[in-house]
Amino acid sequence: MSRTEFTRKTKQEALARSGHRCEASGPRYGFEEGQRCNCSLSVGVIFDHDVPDQLGGDNSLENCRAICVTCNKFKTRGDIQQIRKSDRQRDKASGVIRPAGKIKSPGFQKSQKASRRQSKQPLPSKPLFKPAEETR
Ligand SMILES: [Zn+2]
Repeated sequence: MSRTEFTRKTKQEALARSGHRCEASGPRYGFEEGQRCNCSLSVGVIFDHDVPDQLGGDNSLENCRAICVTCNKFKTRGDIQQIRKSDRQRDKASGVIRPAGKIKSPGFQKSQKASRRQSKQPLPSKPLFKPAEETR
């Protein structure tokens, strides 16, 4: 990480200042100007640079924002992989089952394939298991 890291003390002070409520506000986090997120930080807190260090921001308490995971994700949404991952997790949690992605084949085609497979499968298993049972 090349970012300027906040000290432990600054983080603690920022969290105390936030009242354990997300300090993110404004369009940068997807809110109206002046509107604050205010959601609980009990699930997770990220200490965000109000002004990025690349733009001259430092690691002072004034430049530290205690924000929630959702707001952090919004701000760093350039990380597509992470967002996709969380989308997948959300689908799993809500019980959404996605189709396998194959084109649905007509019923008769499917059964044709299945019967072909059935005629092949029993062959190797026969000689392997029967003799073992007979010796007992
Ligand atoms: Zn938030």
